[in-house]
Amino acid sequence: MDKNLMKKTSIFCCILLMMVLSVISIFGKTPSKNQTNMSGVEMLNFYTRQAKEEQEEIVEGKVRIKMPEGIGRGDIRINNDYVNQTVTIHVPETSEKFYYNYPLVGSSDYIQDLSYGFKDGKASIKIILDSVYEHIIEFRDDYLYLSFVEPKSLYDKIVVIDAGHGGTEPGKPAGDILEKNINLDIVLKLKKMLDNTDIRVYYTRLKDENPSFFHRVNLANATKANMFISIHNNSNESYIHGTQVLWNEKKKYKGLGTFELSQILLDEAVKSMGSKDMGLIDGNEAAYIVRTAEVPASIIEVGFMTNDAELANLLTDEYQQKAAQGIYNGILRAFEEGF
Ligand SMILES: [Zn+2]
Repeated sequence: MDKNLMKKTSIFCCILLMMVLSVISIFGKTPSKNQTNMSGVEMLNFYTRQAKEEQEEIVEGKVRIKMPEGIGRGDIRINNDYVNQTVTIHVPETSEKFYYNYPLVGSSDYIQDLSYGFKDGKASIKIILDSVYEHIIEFRDDYLYLSFVEPKSLYDKIVVIDAGHGGTEPGKPAGDILEKNINLDIVLKLKKMLDNTDIRVYYTRLKDENPSFFHRVNLANATKANMFISIHNNSNESYIHGTQVLWNEKKKYKGLGTFELSQILLDEAVKSMGSKDMGLIDGNEAAYIVRTAEVPASIIEVGFMTNDAELANLLTDEYQQKAAQGIYNGILRAFEEGF
């Protein structure tokens, strides 16, 4: 081989090597084809291992999320959807490339799945959790640190309130009046009162939607709530009226449980509304909620929508307020009595 050709070949090889190296350095942080088939959690663990190898600071038990330049605490919106065990972090002014270059790293404890969404220059990072957790946020340098804790570690008193039915599931209709709307109206009035207490309340719904029975009960079981109260309205022959509470006879045990809670709620609701006491009903067979709840649970049937006079009452703000007040008084009394 002549000298000139050797020189040319070595220069060519050098350039080729440099190109290969620069491609590796540009894409060094991105997973190989094999790795792109990884789940969100596998990706998180992959980048976390890589960050540790590069001596980056990883805080134990926390997820680290890089913030784009100029984005601070006030710009970030975090939504914790407790019913669906999903935390979504909304980051403005972000390109898809940004989280491609700076993927999440940190602890995958409690995380079931993780995904990134991009729309109109905004990123949304969706984290699906393996149970119901409160999230704690911390800003340091250019990072948001996110950790998850069990509600019971933050709150002594936890109540789950369920507005029966919703969305495509109307409940009992009385003409064009739907049970789901009355249930929600009462819950929204109850919420106003509970907002001023030290009780942490989780609601299965605060709008016209229909979470599954599983998700409704899960909210109470996963948060280890002190009590779970589901609010409904009833139907029967038109002459029947009054208030009933469903409990679970199979879960009657010594101490404070579904029976004691249901009796307190019935007493307080009847007293506040002046309605007829229609007693406690065993709901074990019929009602998924009281059957599957692992915490003291009651379904309060506020009134009968099939009774004209009671239905007229149930449609007024005043009577709904009395119903909410009765349930509220019942919750406070239950805590006083040791729930
Ligand atoms: Zn109902």
